[in-house]
Order: sequence, then structure tokens, then C-alpha cells
Amino acid sequence: MAFVTEQKPAVYFNYVGGEWTESSSGERLESFNPATGEMVGSAQNSTVTDVEQAIDMVHSTFQKSDWGYNPKRRYEALLGFAQKIEENLERLAAVLTREQGKTIKESRQELAGCVDTLKYFAGAARTVFGRSIQLEPNNFGVIAKEPIGVVGIISPWNWPALLMIRELAPALAAGNAVLVKPASLTPAISVELFKLIDQVPQFTKGIVSIVTGPGRSIGAAMGTSKKIDMISFTGDTSTGKTIMELATSNIKKLALELGGKSPNVVFADANLDKAIPLIGRSIFISAGQICMAGSRLLVHESIKGEVISRLKQYAEQLRIGNGLSESTDMGPVVSQSQLDLVAEYCEIGRREGTIITGGHRLSGGDFDRGYFFAPTIIDELPSQCRVVREEIFGPVLAVQSFSSEEEALAMANDTDFGLSAGVWTNDLNRAMRMSKGIKAGTVWINTYNKNFPEAEFGGYKQSGLGRTRGIDGLMEYCETKHIHFEVD
Ligand code: NAD
Repeated sequence: MAFVTEQKPAVYFNYVGGEWTESSSGERLESFNPATGEMVGSAQNSTVTDVEQAIDMVHSTFQKSDWGYNPKRRYEALLGFAQKIEENLERLAAVLTREQGKTIKESRQELAGCVDTLKYFAGAARTVFGRSIQLEPNNFGVIAKEPIGVVGIISPWNWPALLMIRELAPALAAGNAVLVKPASLTPAISVELFKLIDQVPQFTKGIVSIVTGPGRSIGAAMGTSKKIDMISFTGDTSTGKTIMELATSNIKKLALELGGKSPNVVFADANLDKAIPLIGRSIFISAGQICMAGSRLLVHESIKGEVISRLKQYAEQLRIGNGLSESTDMGPVVSQSQLDLVAEYCEIGRREGTIITGGHRLSGGDFDRGYFFAPTIIDELPSQCRVVREEIFGPVLAVQSFSSEEEALAMANDTDFGLSAGVWTNDLNRAMRMSKGIKAGTVWINTYNKNFPEAEFGGYKQSGLGRTRGIDGLMEYCETKHIHFEVD
């Protein structure tokens, strides 16, 4: 099927101090459709000078404005933003699919998640409660929650709208000023969302800005800036470690949402009719480019043959192609380098294990214009294999089997990561034991990929620091102050 995707590439600007601005570099950062190679847009290729000016502007706006003390205004601003996204959802979904490659259904789902998150945190802006306590007969303490100040949000390309909004919404709800640096591969969707912020008059002018450009220069400048009080980073674990080092400049507060290598643990009594499609979806959604991907399958040895054969069937019936088609189930990976990386891991899998299905780039016809990779399942992998241990960020499922619950738990925890896990069993006691034993921020029982703005999300071990979403997610963006009263 041919798609009318060739549209004039849009030009995007930085948004600083409530104005659209150009980078001093005079250069552009271009983004391309990974399904077709067409240019989607060009954004500002900003310099360290640009980002420093933006930080100064956000910092002075925070000092001068009443944003941090005006929860009702913040509620109205976030709600207004949510409504603007709702009104523009179809248009934004097309931009997201064209720039990132995910299917149009996933893009709609991602943007609906943005709306839901903004609405939740709009309400939460009016509930930034502290506590009070009588300490001695004449002494009384108020434990107040206050905004931290200027928050720098650095976001990734895989769910570029939701992962930016997931942090922006609580940061603003708590009363902070924010500077966003989106991923270099997805500036268009990020700036499109800021165009909507610009249409909401309740936002204090200058309280939220976006600057596009390379992470290694402008992201790093945010990390070291003494005028940024907190960095909220979502991305690769190795970049997270760099940010930690950069943040020592002024002992910044950090929130880190990093990588994963999450297991789906399938016991012999599991309801496979329900489990198979959800396990398949957990690894092939967004072509596996999702932090919580169920990239390891741990299956009881007695049902391994059946589970693998049914997952193979699932993988092979997926319709792969341009995400703009309503019938596409899986789009391309985001770039040539991501495609090469996935292929490299599959070669390791081929040498050390057995490829059940996939393991290769898709070619011929429209596939040759983009970065399409076949949904892949690899079995018989030793536990030290890099395919089992490292985050691939592609549609590759590594299969291992176990013979006892104890072994399953040990295998589930045999990883540097701890973002999420799925447990499939009809035994409630076992489900409870496994959910307590697994070292991960989210454990789903008989389901997967269920996320809500009101339920905390985040990583154990090298999957992150702190929690996003929910009340804890709001509190991440607050300082705590003890105000003490002594009466005579
Ligand atoms: P990445 O680490 O390469 O980039 C993330 C952001 O950091 C980008 O904006 C990039 O420009 C910036 N950056 C790069 N180098 C920097 C530096 N030295 N200083 C400051 N900023 C820098 O990650 P990615 O490839 O965009 O995203 C994929 C990764 O994100 C995967 O590891 C995935 O698991 C992780 N992720 C985690 C979550 C979560 O919630 N835990 C969600 C989505 C993605």
C-alpha cells in the first residue's frame, strides 16, 4: 500500500521565555521517518550558549513569578494543556508515527496517556500536602512540601511524548520551572507539544521551555549547570551514570528512569490463552523499543515446547510495515544504528543459541526504504550470553527454562536491571511469593504493560533512582522543609 506521507518538512524552533527562538549555531537538527526515510522536520541544533541562556531565563522566571505558590493556576494550566492535546490528538499521532515509526494505534495510545497523565497531575497540583506535628508542649512543626526550583528534563526517543509529559506534568504540578531537552531523533513531536503549551494562557510565560540539540553537549551542560536544581532523566543506563557524575557540580537532585531486561515468568498452571498474546505484545510493541519490554521469557520446562510454538505463531502473524497503516502491528526500529545493533545481538544469539523465528532484517519492496526487523525469538541461550543479560531495545525475545519456583525466582533476579516483571500462574500463593521476591519496581500478575498515572513506576538496581507517577512521583519533585514554631 502506498502512503501519502510526503509532506513539507516543518521547521521547529526552541521555546524560551514564552518566545520561539533560533539557535545561535544557525544549524538544524533533522529528523527522518524510519519507515520511509522522508524528512519529517528540522529543529534547532542548539549550542551550549543557547541552553545557558534558556536556563537563565527559566531560573529568573521561577524567582520572579508566583507559579510555585499558585496551585490553582498550575491546575488550570495542566488541564488546559491536556485539553489541547485531546483536540489535536489525530494530528499529533500522525507526527509521532512519522517521526518515531511506531504504529498509529500505539501513537494514539501514547497521546491518550499524555492526556490522562496531565489530568491526573492537574488535580494533584492542588494536593501538595505536607504534615504537621506537635513536638514538645511549646513546640510545633510544619513539614512543608515546596518546589525544588528549576528542573531539567532530558527525555528519550522511544515514547517521546509520554515520557516527556510523564515528568513534565508532576514537575510543573509541584510548582517547579522546567527546561526540557528532548531526544535528537524526535524533536518534532516534542516541539509540537510545546506549541500547544504556548496556546494555554494559564502557563506563566517562561516557566517552561524547550531546547533541542545533542545530548552530549547541551544535555551535559544542563547536567553541570548550577542554576538547575534537579535533573529528571529517562534513557540508557550508561547515560544515566554520566548524568550522575555531571550532577555532582552542585549536588543536584536526580530522578533516573533507566533501562531494563524484564522477565515474563510462566508457570505450568498459567492460562496460556491469555498469556501468549500479552507476552508477545510485551516484547514486540514499539518493535521492542520500550524500557519495560518483556525481553526475557522464563518458562517452566514442562510447557516450554507449547509456549515457544504458540509465541512463534504469534510473532509470524504480526503485520509489519509503515505505522501509518491502520492494519500495521509493528513498525520499524528507529534508526540505522538501532537496526545494526539489533542485528548484531541476533548474530550473537545465532552463535550461542537457536533462532526460533526472525533474526534478520526485512527486505524487498517498501521494507528497503526503512529499518524493519523481523520479530525474533531465540532459545537455548546460556545465562551469561549478552542476549540474555543486555538491553537490546529491539524485537528480540530470549527464552530460558526452569524446573522449580526457586530456580525461576533466582533467574528472574539474575540481572543488573530491575524495572518490571510479569508472573503467569493461577496459584495465588505462588503469585504472592514471586511478587515479593522479584527485585523490580513493577510486578504484573497475569498481565503486562499496565500503567496508570496514579501507580508508581521506576527501577530497582541499575534501572533507576526514584519513582515516577503516583504520589511518590509528585513528591520526587518537591523539597521538604521543617518550619518550627515555639510559643512562649
Ligand atoms: P539515551 O540515554 O541515548 O538518550 C536519552 C537522552 O539523553 C536524549 O535526550 C539524549 O540526547 C540525552 N543524552 C545523551 N548523552 C547525554 C549526556 N552525556 N548528557 C546529557 N544528556 C545526554 O537513551 P535513548 O536511546 O534515547 O533511549 C533508550 C533508553 O532509554 C533505553 O535504555 C530505555 O530502556 C531507556 N528508557 C527508560 C525508561 C524508563 O521509564 N525507565 C523509559 C523509556 C526509555
